[in-house]
Amino acid sequence: MTLSFDPDSLDLSAYHYVGGERIVANGELELRRPSDGKAYAGCPVADVSLVDRAVAVAKDAQRSTGWADVRPRERVKVLHAWADLIEKEAVALARLEAVASTRPVAQLVALDIPVIAEQIRFFAEFADKEGSDVVPTGSDSFGMTVSEPYGVVGAITAWNVPLSLAAWKLGPALAAGNAVVLKPSEMTPFSTLHMAELAVRAGIPAGLVNIVLGDGPTTGAAITGHPDVAKISFTGSTRAGSAIMENIARTGTKPMTLELGGKSPQIVFADADIPRAAAAIATSILANAGQACVAGSRLIVAREIADQLTSAIIAQMQSVRAGYTWDETSTYSPIISAPQMERIAGIVTAARTAGAECLFGGEPIAHEGYFYSPTLLSGVDETSPAVREEIFGPVLTVQCFDDEAEAIALADHPTYGLAAGVFTRDLSRALRVTRTLQAGTIWVNRYGRSRDHILPTGGYKQSGMGKDLGRDAYLANRKTKSVLIGL
Ligand code: NDP
Repeated sequence: MTLSFDPDSLDLSAYHYVGGERIVANGELELRRPSDGKAYAGCPVADVSLVDRAVAVAKDAQRSTGWADVRPRERVKVLHAWADLIEKEAVALARLEAVASTRPVAQLVALDIPVIAEQIRFFAEFADKEGSDVVPTGSDSFGMTVSEPYGVVGAITAWNVPLSLAAWKLGPALAAGNAVVLKPSEMTPFSTLHMAELAVRAGIPAGLVNIVLGDGPTTGAAITGHPDVAKISFTGSTRAGSAIMENIARTGTKPMTLELGGKSPQIVFADADIPRAAAAIATSILANAGQACVAGSRLIVAREIADQLTSAIIAQMQSVRAGYTWDETSTYSPIISAPQMERIAGIVTAARTAGAECLFGGEPIAHEGYFYSPTLLSGVDETSPAVREEIFGPVLTVQCFDDEAEAIALADHPTYGLAAGVFTRDLSRALRVTRTLQAGTIWVNRYGRSRDHILPTGGYKQSGMGKDLGRDAYLANRKTKSVLIGL
């Protein structure tokens, strides 16, 4: 079956999804396809009253359907059925995502969607394995910690991998017995809507998965400040994470998981396997055209191997071929929007003005839509905007070091601490550096997530708080009640 499709052939009508029903709405926000820049659909904006309605439906469903009270194995079974449906509908989901986002359709079918299905199954399995504890107390009493769902979880996601982020929010929240009100990015709403409808088709009671569309300041803020939303799970920029904290503080208090921005270093020591390091580093900055929170965007390399390594990375940068996300042969992604293109170009220009040398790229690619060339900048230091700021594009900076202490100092970013890579054949050094680096995830002699979903992901510093994935993500969707019984 061919995966390529005509982007004009899809039904992209605008609606919210609440209580298992479509609420048709005006597509107020104009959407443009990243691959060709054409306006193709509109995104409605849920106002406070619609968010109120979605939260009320979620609250009622969480209580009345018995979702949290059934034998937990029943929840596991239904979540597995949802994962099965996601796999079955992979092509439809992939097309809805590819038309709006930067993800090429073939990568969605081969990678994103099978991984999402796997992650939902992974989270489901906690439902009947994690529970309450009997705790040691004095012999005059009997003590327990009782684990319970929060009730309604509010989730907000970014545009860069919409289906994956929706799975990271919905999977653990539902497995843990909650209902969810989720707002995807206004730029990429369609695949998340379909994923929610599949949840209900699979047997998850209507009302437990609600999708409201809209922008951050209106719809997002209505969710985060809602008194009946008991917990927030957010993925997006550090700027928006901080606005969410402020809004929560103004409207009350509630726990939150924030997965925020990054500016991750990749340290390559002189004894590293250079072809292997070059491949991992190039893949990490080329995947989704660098629009990944964990993109390894700062190369920190031992001076004596810098030329050899950068030449190998440039060879990989030269091989990318820009293409429409709906063409199954495309491998190199567009940039999400015209403003994001301008932002990338602006930071590259500012870095060059400040003295950076462009070893490769540094310009848009001649193609319809928004494509930016893979870019390699040298001659930068920690004051360069290209080193300081999260660019969220295919831009890699290079800084050289002469010893381990200097490598660690360069790797340390004043704001971000999401991920880091270390390439060396010296095990002691790898462990030493790993201990010192301030990052939530560190990859050694590889870069990027594997299918080991047990490893939590999340940031140090202003890259976030709390974890997605792993057991932590499930537990973050439960609260603990202490019970002490006098004997
Ligand atoms: P944004 O922070 O701009 O937006 C993320 C989501 O938050 C969107 O749905 C947005 O709505 C919403 N939002 C924005 N402002 C508010 C607000 N005040 N209150 C509530 N919701 C709000 O990020 P992008 O979508 O541009 O995504 C890129 C960012 O996401 C990067 O910084 C990247 O590093 C980060 N990210 C982090 C990941 C991680 O795991 N740590 C994973 C993936 C991305 P809308 O845009 O529709 O207005």
